[in-house]
Amino acid sequence: MRRIVIVGAGHVGFYVADQLSHRLRKDIRRGDVEVMVIDPQQHMTYQPFLPEAAAGHISPRHGVIPLRRQLHRCRILNGTVTRIRHADKTVTVQPIVGPSRDIEYDQIVVAPGSVSRTLPIPGLAENAIGFKSMGEAIFLRNHVLARLDAAAATPDPEVRRRALSFVFVGGGFAGVEAMAESEDMVRDTMKDYEELDFEETRWTLVEASQRILPEVGAEMGAYTVEKLLQRGFDIRLNTLLKSCEDGHVVLSDGEEFDADTIVWTAGVKPHPMLQDTDLPLGPKGHLRCRPTLQVEDDAGIVEGAWGAGDSAQVPDLSGFSEYCSPSAQHAVRQAARLAKNIAAVLYQRPVKDYVHKYVGSVASLGLYKGVAHVYGFKGKGLIAWFMHRSYHLMRVPGFGRKVRVVADWTLAVFTKRETVQLGELHDPRGPWEDVATGRTPPSPG
Ligand SMILES: Cc1cc2nc3c(=O)[nH]c(=O)nc-3n(C[C@H](O)[C@H](O)[C@H](O)COP(=O)(O)OP(=O)(O)OC[C@H]3O[C@@H](n4cnc5c(N)ncnc54)[C@H](O)[C@@H]3O)c2cc1C
Repeated sequence: MRRIVIVGAGHVGFYVADQLSHRLRKDIRRGDVEVMVIDPQQHMTYQPFLPEAAAGHISPRHGVIPLRRQLHRCRILNGTVTRIRHADKTVTVQPIVGPSRDIEYDQIVVAPGSVSRTLPIPGLAENAIGFKSMGEAIFLRNHVLARLDAAAATPDPEVRRRALSFVFVGGGFAGVEAMAESEDMVRDTMKDYEELDFEETRWTLVEASQRILPEVGAEMGAYTVEKLLQRGFDIRLNTLLKSCEDGHVVLSDGEEFDADTIVWTAGVKPHPMLQDTDLPLGPKGHLRCRPTLQVEDDAGIVEGAWGAGDSAQVPDLSGFSEYCSPSAQHAVRQAARLAKNIAAVLYQRPVKDYVHKYVGSVASLGLYKGVAHVYGFKGKGLIAWFMHRSYHLMRVPGFGRKVRVVADWTLAVFTKRETVQLGELHDPRGPWEDVATGRTPPSPG
């Protein structure tokens, strides 16, 4: 039996497993081939839906895809790959329980994605949060809504100001969408708070370069800045976060203020687990790949090793840039090519290059608001927002998932936005332990 191990079940890993297990279904049924997917999570996260989940437009469960149901022909192992020794064709896995173990393979797809690129900024680790997982998106939602309750509960202007100050660092997809959607949610939710006035809120976007949303091009990026300024956002370009100790935000332009909410979305870097492999890495820590998505070193192809997505450095043959950008757009298309190429190698057929010209992007800026630049078409407002929803509905895997997402959106048209915060989920045992140990419960918030 030949085993194909897929490390990571994100945009690359999920689609490779799905398509490969379909292509090789007869071999899998005969027991000639096994496709094994290793990921600590039991679901794939459709990251472009994180801002919508944070804003309460879709249920968190509908933005993730259960691996066992969707990849029923694959073997799923929930654990973390801690080491790859390709010289011996062995991965070391730390399962979610029990001792770590070695697994042998014939082919390996290495797709652990990326992690937030952080800097040694005082207070960042303790006071900020990232925005890459469903857990972080839901935490942000609960936290932001809890800040409204905190502000409403006190007349102290300092406490209110701090609670109602929201800072997002990084003006890419994740930062702009997360901030715009959160502001939209707060604007809506505040209608239920007699004690609060939306004018009291402060939304600051800190971006080190001179533009935001590079994914939609310079013109639409400038349009987005203009629109956000009209909505009252405090957009600070060419600005750095210098420190945020105890929530006291200090910016490189001299501005200082207190904020209870600091979200870090200033770029990504390849997953550090790649350092624990004997596979060749590029200067920034990416897996070095050929356009065929085969891993390569100075001597040529590293047989049996494949890479794609955020963790790989894949030459962009369309000439748009030197390497394919870290985006779901490339990840999903690379996955399709990668699955075909692995099947080609198994059946001794020639492999083909991955070629895709980045078509542009769509971004949501809150309900009925968006920006798009796709295939040369520049969309604004409602049209762009509609394009954003249609595109991601097409892309999210599984028919059942699409139905659930549409149901969420449709329900929201007829009922008001869900504004409940379930911050208690972050510490569900707390109240029980208080009762069981006779401790005085701390005040929430
Ligand atoms: C908020 C947000 C919004 C975005 N919006 C868009 C958008 O609108 N359009 C777009 O094109 N792109 C968007 N992106 C970017 C896009 O989601 C990523 O480029 C894409 O997910 C990369 O796919 P990947 O498979 O390389 O990594 P991921 O999808 O991140 O998957 C990596 C997987 O590897 C697993 N893993 C990590 N380490 C290990 C290990 N040691 N062992 C086993 N498994 C491991 C992880 O659990 C994860 O499941 C967005 C990203 C974010 C965060």
